[in-house]
Amino acid sequence: MNMTSDISAQEMPLSTTPPASTSGPVHARPALELQDASVVFGSGPQAVTALSPTTLRMDRGDFLALVGPSGCGKSTILRLASSLIQPSSGNILLGGREAAAKELRIGMAFQNRTMLPWLTIEKNVMLPLKIVEPFKRSFQRDRKGAYRDRVHALLAQVGLKDFAGHFPWQLSGGMLQRANLCRALIHDPDLLLLDEPFGALDQFTREELWQILQDLYLDRKPTVLLVTHDLREAGFLARRICVMSARPGRVISDKPVTLPQPRDIGVIYSPEFVEMTQGLRALIAQIRK
Ligand code: ADP
Ligand code: MG
Repeated sequence: MNMTSDISAQEMPLSTTPPASTSGPVHARPALELQDASVVFGSGPQAVTALSPTTLRMDRGDFLALVGPSGCGKSTILRLASSLIQPSSGNILLGGREAAAKELRIGMAFQNRTMLPWLTIEKNVMLPLKIVEPFKRSFQRDRKGAYRDRVHALLAQVGLKDFAGHFPWQLSGGMLQRANLCRALIHDPDLLLLDEPFGALDQFTREELWQILQDLYLDRKPTVLLVTHDLREAGFLARRICVMSARPGRVISDKPVTLPQPRDIGVIYSPEFVEMTQGLRALIAQIRK
């Protein structure tokens, strides 16, 4: 099935189903769309429903935070979005096309940093350029020139200018996670998938990373889907927060974050922000009962 929209992202209200069409430029279509998508692992008495039929739509450049109790299917949604798994029912559309289409570039970062220990930070960050088209085709030519400059510029942007030649084991957890973000963004992905990327960091380092991610987002405007347990992280970074019910989960609340961007870290202590996160907290407490 190929359902596309020719209405511009700005004009499209979030909750409306787009009209069916096969034409229209890629940028006018929703970046990611789950249409009644469900995931069941296994079969028979052993079957586990990881995700109840879920409908979710993200316009290009959107920043959506997904929160919900453990095991409700958040990572499953990310795996669907990255085409790592297929839905058991329903459809996943990327850029208006079925998820198998390679029309959108995807970047990913997870809590467990997966830098290759035998490569320098520069080479680790450069990896997607070696693997993903159109970068791949001129990798041999550009790896010591344009691509190297590209990696160094991004590392400088996150404060790692002097660490390009270091190995992963020579960096702190916070520095590694910055490098991880660089690797997720080096190939200018249209869709950035983040699965609790800052979960293992201390609060101070985490807040530093929030600001770095905010800067990178505002600078490049990818579509970001962030899974997090941290309501302040969701509120500080996202433009929209979706709450999921307990397993088998589905989206039960979808609210915009109206605070203007860029946000200062002090915003998390403002009455407006505290009220928003308390509301989310109460909703999640209710779900868990
Ligand atoms: P979370 O919201 O914590 O990220 P997940 O999306 O990882 O949750 O998982 C949702 C549910 O599906 C969980 O109960 C999990 O145990 C189950 N699940 C995930 N992957 C598999 C799998 N490969 N086989 C069986 N069950 C799975
Ligand atoms: Mg998870």
